[in-house]
Amino acid sequence: MNRDFPATLVDPFQRRISYLRLSVTDRCDFRCVYCMAEDMQFVPKPQVLTLEELYRVAEAAVGLGVRKIRLTGGEPLIRNNILSLVQRLGALPGLETLALTSNGSRLAELAAPLRAAGVSRVNISLDSLRPDRFRELTRFGDLAKVIAGVDAAVAAGFERIKLNAVILRGRNDDEVLDLVEFARQREIDIAFIEEMPLGQIEEHSRALSFCSSAELEQLIGSHYPLQPQGDPSGSAGPARYFSMADSRSQVGFISPHSNNFCHLCNRVRVTVEGRLLLCLGNEHSADLRPVLRAPGSSRVELERAIVAAVALKPEKHHFTHGEEPEILRFMNMTGG
Ligand code: SAM
Ligand code: SF4
Repeated sequence: MNRDFPATLVDPFQRRISYLRLSVTDRCDFRCVYCMAEDMQFVPKPQVLTLEELYRVAEAAVGLGVRKIRLTGGEPLIRNNILSLVQRLGALPGLETLALTSNGSRLAELAAPLRAAGVSRVNISLDSLRPDRFRELTRFGDLAKVIAGVDAAVAAGFERIKLNAVILRGRNDDEVLDLVEFARQREIDIAFIEEMPLGQIEEHSRALSFCSSAELEQLIGSHYPLQPQGDPSGSAGPARYFSMADSRSQVGFISPHSNNFCHLCNRVRVTVEGRLLLCLGNEHSADLRPVLRAPGSSRVELERAIVAAVALKPEKHHFTHGEEPEILRFMNMTGG
């Protein structure tokens, strides 16, 4: 292919971009209280990238050195025909890791076909093991279905399964050890994510509900001695992981507030409207949809747009605990 630009993605701070989080829908069958407002406006259908357009973005990114793609949303598994996209991505030369983040509601049926199509890692969100509370936190979620989804994922033999839990003070902070035990029983990993100020929510005060990773680490460490796992610039990305002597499960902490990991950032996101976001905590972005939809547009033009966008990647985010959201975009729009 004739390119008049370098076929690699290096930002102005010399960070090499090798990881793309690709949102395949902003819609979801849940309305988790920290992620969405009760009454959400979703992207009008004509602005949603088609599966073919999503594939073209992935192909161009891999052509520029991206080696890992995580499909996310919204809930990626409610997108129509998602398996057809997964199958194509699973066969994309140069892509080393195809991963997925899901709320688990459809994994009971889809775990085995996703594994067969080439997904090697799944993250499953699970914030409570009590059915009533799970329903309250997700507004619509059925805990039994999600647990069946986790178990189907374990049976399907993914290389890595990780639970993601967002802990809110006074809501589920008494379940931290139960969640760790749930992961240990299945020999899967678990990461605790600090709540981030993405989108305006009325349901609770993000400042009052905040639970720091340091606090959770101390609580878990007092029950299961935690051994730090190496350098966070490895595959763990922004999470810090710990092992436990008597288990294969690892415990991670993703701490955008208390542990700034921006200097290690190797990722960009593409929203389902085709907006390439350079940072979770900043608005810097480039719109790929006009490039994708320009008559006769080629892969080189798409690659050129991606290379130009990476030059906009900011050095870091500045999350604080103010009551006003710093980013008006909700997490389901961002592609978590
Ligand atoms: N629907 C899928 C799921 O829930 O796993 C994938 C998308 S969801 C936006 C990805 C992750 O973002 C989930 O683990 C969720 O807990 C997390 N998340 C959503 N809103 C968040 C917020 N405001 N702060 C921190 N994490 C958030
Ligand atoms: Fe849906 Fe995931 Fe957001 Fe929950 S966290 S509302 S499951 S997109």
